[in-house]
Amino acid sequence: MAELTNTALLLGQAVLYFTVMMMLLHARRSIGIGVFMCALGTMHFLETYLASVFYVAMPFGAVSPGSAVLFAGKLMMLLLLYIREDAVVARQPIYGLLFGNFLIVGLVLLLQHQDTIAMGPSRLPDIGFVNEIGWLMVWGTVLLYIDAIAIIVLYERLGPMFGGHLGWRFLVCGAAVLTFDQAGFYLVLHLMTGAPLSVFMAGWIAKMCAVLIYTALFVLYLKFFDDEKKWLGNRSFKDAFQMLTYRERYEQLLEDANRDALTGAFHRRHYEQHAGSFLKASLDGGRPLTMVVIDIDYFKGVNDRHGHHIGDDVLRQIANLLSANLRSGDFLYRFGGEEFVLLCDQLPAEAAVSMAERMRRHIENFSEAELPERVTVSVGVATAPEDGATIEALFQTADKRLYEAKRLGRNRVCGPVFQD
Ligand code: GH3
Ligand code: MG
Ligand code: MG
Repeated sequence: MAELTNTALLLGQAVLYFTVMMMLLHARRSIGIGVFMCALGTMHFLETYLASVFYVAMPFGAVSPGSAVLFAGKLMMLLLLYIREDAVVARQPIYGLLFGNFLIVGLVLLLQHQDTIAMGPSRLPDIGFVNEIGWLMVWGTVLLYIDAIAIIVLYERLGPMFGGHLGWRFLVCGAAVLTFDQAGFYLVLHLMTGAPLSVFMAGWIAKMCAVLIYTALFVLYLKFFDDEKKWLGNRSFKDAFQMLTYRERYEQLLEDANRDALTGAFHRRHYEQHAGSFLKASLDGGRPLTMVVIDIDYFKGVNDRHGHHIGDDVLRQIANLLSANLRSGDFLYRFGGEEFVLLCDQLPAEAAVSMAERMRRHIENFSEAELPERVTVSVGVATAPEDGATIEALFQTADKRLYEAKRLGRNRVCGPVFQD
């Protein structure tokens, strides 16, 4: 009878936990994702306490709500957070829990050495509990970290196998990772305390039941409260792993932030911040630096004739052609709407003009073959130090030559070798 009541109470806890956490996740756009994350972290205290001292009798053995309801629930919640957001969001609570747990262990190591004062006969600190939170918790923390990453990577890895069956995918990931977790935790528990195999089995069955219940609740949630399609997306498991372990290339992230979304060229802001020092480094090293200013001819007409959308596409394709001709170390900036600036280190004037001429011809030929109409560019070229020793002076000269190219009929390059 007691076992039946215990089962019902555990089920009630799982439903309560899932309902509240899912509501917080669901409402994240209006209340902020921090609410969900804090609630997830707060539950950790109760989970640790329960898992260390609170066990109830179930038909298959002793089970702690700390591990069956809260630990299993936490892992599933991390996976749900990942599915609904992305690896960059999901890794925040993963690392928060990791560092929070280590901090608890550090504080407990110090707390253990304190002489405490009894605040009343029944108000003695539970030193037994404090002792529990020791090295076993360090292992538990490491395991949680591995579990959290594994469940997400596995979820992506299994994607092609399950296709649109989100519930099955969720179930298999939860079952696999919680089995691994139970084995890992039991192994160390056994080595430290000699816990019998029945402890492993009871905990494992409880976790498997928890995964089943959470999956059922998740499927019900999708059925009644959310659109399943919004939960399905394809991401690479390798990318997810790189993100989760903070191994994505930060340079890449920074670079992306500096780039214009339409053309992929650097923003003008980047030019303003770096072009000056880029020029100085070239001049200090005794190398020529060339600036090429490129402006699309009669681009307004392209928009007028074909629409802004096609105009955008033309702009993107021309930017692609320009970047395809860059050498490593060259910088392409989108300077204005349909104006680009190219900075090339170690490129003398004559070579720069022939490179610009090649680009101009390439764009003309490409547009005749591939674009809705023939599109040409006018180009001004200036090389430091001859044409200007500061970035402003260099730009002024290049811009003047661009204007000259426009004046002479467009679709041409004007540089120093053509000047008299
Ligand atoms: P010119 O040969 O004298 O350079 O003629 P133009 O029409 O290219 O010159 P103008 O500077 O008068 O017009 C530039 C046009 O570029 C205006 C605007 O409609 C278009 N444009 C600027 N930014 C974008 C963009 O992001 N997308 C699209 N589709 N058009 C843009
Ligand atoms: Mg133009
Ligand atoms: Mg322009």
